[in-house]
Amino acid sequence: MPRERLFLFDTTLRDGAQTNGVDFTLHDKLAIAALLDDLGVDYIEGGYPGANPVDTELFGRDRGLRATFTAFGMTRRPGRSTANDPGLAALLDARADAICYVAKTWDYHVRVALETTLEDNLASIRDSVRAARPKGREVLLDCEHFFDGYKANPSYALACARTAHEEGARWVVLCDTNGGTLPHEVEVIVKAVTAVVPGDHVGIHAHNDTEQAVANSLAAVRAGARQIQGTLNGLGERCGNANLVSLIGNLKLKAEYSGNFDIGVTDDKLAHLTRASRSLDEILNRAGNRHAPYVGDSAFATKAGIHASAILKDPATYEHVRPEAVGNRRKLLVSDQAGRSNVLAELERVGIAVERDDPRVVRLLDVIKEREAVGYAYEAADASFELLARRMLGRVPQYFDVTQFDVNVEQRVNAIGERVTVSMAVVKVTVGDDKLISAAEGNGPVNALDLALRKDLGKYQTYIKGLNLTDYRVRILNAGTEAVTRVLIESADENGERWTTIGVSPNIIDASFQALMDSIVYKLVKSGAPA
Ligand SMILES: [Zn+2]
Repeated sequence: MPRERLFLFDTTLRDGAQTNGVDFTLHDKLAIAALLDDLGVDYIEGGYPGANPVDTELFGRDRGLRATFTAFGMTRRPGRSTANDPGLAALLDARADAICYVAKTWDYHVRVALETTLEDNLASIRDSVRAARPKGREVLLDCEHFFDGYKANPSYALACARTAHEEGARWVVLCDTNGGTLPHEVEVIVKAVTAVVPGDHVGIHAHNDTEQAVANSLAAVRAGARQIQGTLNGLGERCGNANLVSLIGNLKLKAEYSGNFDIGVTDDKLAHLTRASRSLDEILNRAGNRHAPYVGDSAFATKAGIHASAILKDPATYEHVRPEAVGNRRKLLVSDQAGRSNVLAELERVGIAVERDDPRVVRLLDVIKEREAVGYAYEAADASFELLARRMLGRVPQYFDVTQFDVNVEQRVNAIGERVTVSMAVVKVTVGDDKLISAAEGNGPVNALDLALRKDLGKYQTYIKGLNLTDYRVRILNAGTEAVTRVLIESADENGERWTTIGVSPNIIDASFQALMDSIVYKLVKSGAPA
């Protein structure tokens, strides 16, 4: 049986942009659109043309995308004609391949929020879809609150969907706007819709308020819908939207879907999935969800020694899909329970060749256990693990030596009477025969120390130019006066590579210093800096 085509529609640039704390620049939006286009997503919704300067500019330019770039906006306002609605005119004139209208389909909302009659709302849908026809655009209708509307007044909700379809809308998209619908309800309701609108014209737009947006989307597909809307990493207001990343993994790798449907994402592009997901976090300047299905750092991480040795024999023993398929990688965690096999597998992964019975492997394992007992957690800091291993195997040059550092924090009243806290760090470094001194101010002591440390490393400076700290996490282990501080620092470089380093000490500055040093040395090792 030939496979049916299933279409993916991304709303990261509009719905995703509703997320608390997310504010995309034009540059961000173009970068995200390029990520989606590369993956093979069919539709990219750009936002509301004319709503703000960023979106106006986005719609004003040639974006060079293969995907169907879609403008979003409302159907004509109640009591107006299509010719006399500036919002609608802007939408019709936007440089876009498709237009996605949003309309109310819940009778209660039509009366209370829109303050119009059910008949006028149907006429608005009909007129708006019709008005787009001479423009030669593909038209979609987002049926807002469709599932709640269907529960309240099924015949009216269906009438809205049918009207749009009859007027020539390519897609009628059923939105679970409040996100409270459950998968079995979605399946029943979508089935009812496909009795009046053919399933290959029906889409699903699920919000994640019950953590089931992905399940709801798949339930809609089982019931006949052939377009899925979602966002990268499930970005979206409240609890987010259906996560396109997880959906793509499921649709490509689970036989029920991959056997019956084709999507625009090829097997080759599937291997870009992890990168696309992490690139979005990069753009948002946030740490990704380690536990995200398919693409998270921990999605293929196994800790217990017994599982690790089974995985070495056959990865399928503890993995539901191959990590390489989605561009992720297997990770065997080095931990308290670790056996030799974990350590050997980790060494192999980071590219350190060593004989299986090399006595240094046992010594390395002992050191790891000792260090983990005092608070180190190498499973969360693989760059520090790699350095530790390389040092024990005698393969890390002594690039430079920090002979002394001094950090001070001062609170005072400034010239305009404000109380300010200023941090300053001075670092003395020996690089070969050069003795260097750098000083820097920072917004905190660790920031000042970091800036001073990276200010001048002599001949190594060019190697660390692109180095950036992207995350800094502090945890206090065991309470009371004996507390020690564990610092994890995530760094990134100009090639988009990321690594995490660790420091542990009763003193937070010292713990931070260890992690900073590891980060710099790791970068020098990776860059092949000469000793
Ligand atoms: Zn939405």
